[in-house]
Amino acid sequence: MTSPFELSQKSRSLKPSATVAVTSRALELKRQGVDVISMSVGEPDFDTPPHIKQAAIEAIESGETKYTAVNGIPELREAISAKFSRENGLDYAPDAVTVTSGGKQAIFNAFFALLNPGDEVLIPAPYWVSYPEMVGLTGAVPVEVPTTPQSGFMLDVELLASKITPRTRMIVLNSPGNPTGAVFTPDILRGVAELAQQHGLMIVTDEIYEHLVYDAEQVSIGQFAPEHTLTINGASKAYAMTGWRIGYAGGPRHVIAAMNALQSQSTSNASSISQYAALAALVQHEETHRFIDMARSAYRQRRDVIVRGLNDLGLPTPTPHGAFYVMANTDRIHENELEAARIILDEAKVAVVPGTDFSAPHQVRLSYATSLENIQEVLRRLGQLLA
Ligand code: GLU
Repeated sequence: MTSPFELSQKSRSLKPSATVAVTSRALELKRQGVDVISMSVGEPDFDTPPHIKQAAIEAIESGETKYTAVNGIPELREAISAKFSRENGLDYAPDAVTVTSGGKQAIFNAFFALLNPGDEVLIPAPYWVSYPEMVGLTGAVPVEVPTTPQSGFMLDVELLASKITPRTRMIVLNSPGNPTGAVFTPDILRGVAELAQQHGLMIVTDEIYEHLVYDAEQVSIGQFAPEHTLTINGASKAYAMTGWRIGYAGGPRHVIAAMNALQSQSTSNASSISQYAALAALVQHEETHRFIDMARSAYRQRRDVIVRGLNDLGLPTPTPHGAFYVMANTDRIHENELEAARIILDEAKVAVVPGTDFSAPHQVRLSYATSLENIQEVLRRLGQLLA
């Protein structure tokens, strides 16, 4: 007889998030008193700016503590619509926008609103661990489009085109990308948009790292193929608001409506207090941009230090142009990246994410959203390990 609590096939086939797992392990070790430096989590080390926190305090005090509309408070959807227009050249009316509990829920809702079992979804690799897992949950099939460290992880549009079959329905883009930091050029994006138009494909573009670009141009692909694009973004990375869980999406109204229906049967709405905080971030955008500029220049400096340091240690690391991750080749430590990450954690007390679940063999991901002192200490520890 089977156990009454035998897990579902979907649950058994799901891989838990590697980024979340390593981060939890680092936190646990710290709690036990181990001096671990976490380079694992993709999370700004800066505090949420004061004007954003203040708006949340005011929301609590004035009683904005109840359910909101499923798709978010109207003021926030208006502010997001204005942001898409001002910063991205995208025309999404407030009723073509929805607010979610983090960017992750927007992506999850989008995949469940759009994909059928057997559909194929093209995903440039290395990719963020959650895309293929979420695609798989819908019964659709993730199809990798490889990119290489030698090309700075740039997407090859011809290779992408060669992967299109009669079952292909969607292309997932994430530029600036996690874990590679690659920023796809406007020409590449134009090429992808043309393919989507020729073959009737949808593009789901996750632009959560849009403001974290250093020496590259960030363009929203929705400008090139508006009828084919669903644009995802959120407050976490740009405004240092990971814990507030605010994501959002803009796209064709019927898709947004389907995402809202899904959300009405799961989380109902994003936290009311967090929505008021995100509203302040968007409405007081000049103040918010002063914070973003400060954070961006700190990240750039850290990137330069970590890339130089890792290469000097014999861990080849391409220079990323966006986000706050580097991918280091760890063959000098161990040819298997899972083993390399384990050795780095056990012996150097540095938490990194093995490339395995990003489809990045021989590499580990380090997030440099941490202080310069930590980065220097990490380089020192790795130097000791290698010596
Ligand atoms: N996106 C971040 C990362 O890759 C946060 C963790 C997660 O949700 O995967 O580290």
